[in-house]
Amino acid sequence: MRKADVIPAWGSILRGRRPFLSVEITRECPLQCPGCYAYQPEHLGAAGPLRQLSELKGEALVSGVLALVRRFRPLHLSIVGGEPLVRYRELDVLLPQLGRLGVEVQVVTSAVRPIPAAWRDLSNLHLAVSIDGLQPDHDRRRAPATYDRILKHIAGHRINVHCTITGQLLKHHDYLRDFADFWSRRREVLTIWFSLYTPQEGEQCEERLTPEDRRQALEELARLRVDFPKVEMPDRVLAGFVHPPSTPEECVFAQTTTCVSADLATRITPCQFGGSPVCSECGCIASAGLASFGRYKLAGLVPVSDIFYLSRRVGEWVGGEQVRDSTSLGARAAASGGPTKG
Ligand code: SF4
Ligand code: SF4
Repeated sequence: MRKADVIPAWGSILRGRRPFLSVEITRECPLQCPGCYAYQPEHLGAAGPLRQLSELKGEALVSGVLALVRRFRPLHLSIVGGEPLVRYRELDVLLPQLGRLGVEVQVVTSAVRPIPAAWRDLSNLHLAVSIDGLQPDHDRRRAPATYDRILKHIAGHRINVHCTITGQLLKHHDYLRDFADFWSRRREVLTIWFSLYTPQEGEQCEERLTPEDRRQALEELARLRVDFPKVEMPDRVLAGFVHPPSTPEECVFAQTTTCVSADLATRITPCQFGGSPVCSECGCIASAGLASFGRYKLAGLVPVSDIFYLSRRVGEWVGGEQVRDSTSLGARAAASGGPTKG
């Protein structure tokens, strides 16, 4: 969140709304990335695995997402998956309409298939391409979205590279530096973002960072941002990584973002990761940015996060069902478009 976004976001909260909306636009993905949170069994809790959730397609999906947007009136919509490009035909229709509604949209993709050329002209669209390491590692983890395909599919576009730092990447000397160097040289790349792997409770895997891994990674990021201007890692984000929220209730990002899965009805809680994420090891760049922002003190006295929480309580009281309602979220959207089986 930029400082300029704070007042509109605050206004939304006071009207009983969450300013950010994240939608898993499809349950499908041709990749099988190790450590993918979307396909972990507990991601959607009692709703069951994402691949078994019903989903919408075609006009039903377009009208369903638009209905969600009209209902929640987010300042910012994040479209994730599954792989959003699986629904590129629907996005072709949807993205310009979201632009006319004044909604900034981020599409998070593996770039496994061509990004439509017409999307280059959409000023409200921001493309984030997930690239997990240098070519040999990335291609092994994320085939068929290999480096060769990504380079072909992003040609002519302007993208933000997003890399999740895992334990494996930190085993090699200068790995993150080589990564930043490679992608900094690409003219398509606007910025390079790094997140840290966020584990689930009880998860034991190679991706999970030790406290020492985390410390080393943050020190390296502080150096990389100096040497590679495309690496976007402001002090406040680094500070957020050093001191992540202890619980979802303390997480400004979780408290200000509505996350909805592919049936446009199921809520993902407590945040986009779903399941039971370990907040004290959170590596989400958005959460880190908002966490440190929340610690700013107004007039040197009251943390901004406290004002946000209080505002949200007021907003819930004023806005009633708009934020409290989790069971019927999106139900009207789904009903207006008609759910289809995927
Ligand atoms: S591309 Fe994304 S949604 Fe698909 S498996 Fe990989 S991390 Fe998961
Ligand atoms: S895992 Fe991270 S983003 Fe999710 S609620 Fe915890 S701190 Fe927030």
